[in-house]
Amino acid sequence: MKKIAVFCGASLGFNEVYKNDAIKLGAYFAKQNIGLVYGGGKMGMMGVLADSILKGKGKVIGVIPGLLRHEEVIHSEITEMIVTKTMSKRKVKISKLVDGYIALPGGFGTLDEIFEALTLSQLGIEQKPVGILNTNGFFNHLIKQLDVMVTEGYLKQSNSDMLIVSDSVEELITKMYQYKAPKITEVTSKVVR
Ligand code: AMP
Repeated sequence: MKKIAVFCGASLGFNEVYKNDAIKLGAYFAKQNIGLVYGGGKMGMMGVLADSILKGKGKVIGVIPGLLRHEEVIHSEITEMIVTKTMSKRKVKISKLVDGYIALPGGFGTLDEIFEALTLSQLGIEQKPVGILNTNGFFNHLIKQLDVMVTEGYLKQSNSDMLIVSDSVEELITKMYQYKAPKITEVTSKVVR
């Protein structure tokens, strides 16, 4: 994997463990020569992650929609900043650039982005690994909700299984390298983006 998109909070959260894992992930990216593609911000988890990669002399590409391009939030020291016209164009741009997706703790924006990546996999539009770094069990309730969706007949177990989960940076990336996308046999796979 040459480039991975990481979705994470524009806030830092209250517990330092999340920030520390963002730093760890950034150092790992730099060491393994994996480029980061992310929202382009300098605040919260996003800023910490980008800074950690830059500190390790790694590559950071920001993709930001024009409407969020305020001086006080964009990261001005990253390798490259791509400005898109809209939020939806930003998502398409990010998906074209990357070989996989990771979510770190965050809020609505993070969930929106990681579930869009999972939906693309579910439809067979993309075959890229999608992982979450489950620091401190942050995503445990979300994973439980996926189980409810399977039990109640709204989500296939095979689709739920596409989500790669680990609380260790190294293990998460290793599992992502090993990921094999399931074969999609339904009509929905014919949808073209
Ligand atoms: P949230 O999880 O709600 O804090 O939103 C963070 C996610 O949404 C990130 O992965 C970004 O891609 C995007 N995002 C939200 N706010 C901003 C912002 N001000 N600048 C850039 N990206 C943002």
